[in-house]
Amino acid sequence: MSGEVDVAIIGGGLLGLATARAVLRAHPDASVTVLEKESRWGAHQSGHNSNVIHSGLYYAPGSLKARLARAGGEAMIRYCTEHGVPVKRTGKIVVATAEDQLPRLDALAVRGRENGVTVQRLNRAEIAEREPHVAGVGALAVADTAMTDFGQVCRAVAAELTELGADLRTNSPARSFTVGRDRTAVHTPTGEVRARVIVNCAGLHSDKISEAAGHRPPVRIMPFRGEYAEIRPARRRLINNPVYPVPDPDLPFLGVHVTPMLDGTVHVGPNAVPALARQGYRWRDVDPRMLAELLHDPALHGLARRYWRYGLAEISRSLIWPLFVREVRRMLPEINSEDLRRHGSGVRAQAVKATGELVDDFVISHTPRAIHVLNAPSPAATSSLLIGSHIAAEAFDQLGLADIARRVRESPTGS
Ligand SMILES: Cc1cc2nc3c(=O)[nH]c(=O)nc-3n(C[C@H](O)[C@H](O)[C@H](O)COP(=O)(O)OP(=O)(O)OC[C@H]3O[C@@H](n4cnc5c(N)ncnc54)[C@H](O)[C@@H]3O)c2cc1C
Repeated sequence: MSGEVDVAIIGGGLLGLATARAVLRAHPDASVTVLEKESRWGAHQSGHNSNVIHSGLYYAPGSLKARLARAGGEAMIRYCTEHGVPVKRTGKIVVATAEDQLPRLDALAVRGRENGVTVQRLNRAEIAEREPHVAGVGALAVADTAMTDFGQVCRAVAAELTELGADLRTNSPARSFTVGRDRTAVHTPTGEVRARVIVNCAGLHSDKISEAAGHRPPVRIMPFRGEYAEIRPARRRLINNPVYPVPDPDLPFLGVHVTPMLDGTVHVGPNAVPALARQGYRWRDVDPRMLAELLHDPALHGLARRYWRYGLAEISRSLIWPLFVREVRRMLPEINSEDLRRHGSGVRAQAVKATGELVDDFVISHTPRAIHVLNAPSPAATSSLLIGSHIAAEAFDQLGLADIARRVRESPTGS
């Protein structure tokens, strides 16, 4: 199958699908193709995450994350409600388990308020009222956190895209590109798509796709696996709503949290360990080519220098079960080893600078006829509908449709 389209999107995770949706809702006559290499939508990060719609608590004020998280979460809750996707406003607490974490907890409260998030400080007694089995010396309560199922969101958006007339192709990996004067040809085993604008939402492969399309990425993707455990059914009552630790402000990860899912299961995780393949869901998934490339990459050396202590601790907790359990017991002292069992993982597409610094904010790069999403970690699932609108506006600019771009920027949710 070959064809000419206005916009070709590489990647059928939440961002690729949300971008297609935003383009077609703003401009129903546009032609849009979504290319996904797997046989289903949301097969990687978008279908392997904690399913938390974040409130916007954590992000540096003024950053793209902060700008898109709060409103993005509300848009996601509305979307789920309107499209029959399960969603529930559960709220959450962030718990300090030791006195020396309290200054960081207070700094987080200040940051949350700057981001427009309603935050309530809790003392020990107030923690016990909400979560009697959680140990904490202080906590923040955030009402606007919600739970959903992002895999179902992907399927709902894909169904909507069919209605909107998108050309949706699964089993269609973008293998190479020919950049022409007015169009870029995307070559796939199922045919070629010649697009006026290409949008790279390839997640774990986005730096490689950027390179292949002729744009040297300013960052490289390092895959960080997040492993989960599950609490056995009889002990699920130990927790009512999501409980998070106080995050390390030097890291873009939120720490191992305990999260009741909407299906009744309770998950513990994710940690953050280096994955040995881009789709390295287990320690035994090893990509020797990726590792060989990494070993020669100064970014890895910088990363190791900066974060070796944290990395070593996380790897130990991943490989030595009692250490993982000990970590969980800091928040939930009644939990025992036999109450937990390993329960899958997800792999984060985390951008790293050449210096080895982990990139915190979203990174979206532009060339004249291409948009590359090069860092979209959490809370990008929460914000995906708004990120989709943000990218769609850029795509309309590149298509010379400034009026539509302005309209999308003024009303990103399309309402
Ligand atoms: C463990 C974990 C927990 C998380 N928890 C949360 C959370 O609770 N809340 C939250 O908001 N965010 C969370 N996130 C982050 C969130 O999942 C991601 O930010 C979001 O899913 C990114 O979506 P995406 O579309 O960019 O990437 P993906 O969902 O990874 O989609 C990229 C797609 O591109 C496809 N692709 C790659 N190469 C090609 C190619 N050559 N041709 C065609 N297709 C290709 C892939 O198959 C994939 O389907 C979590 C992430 C992880 C890993």
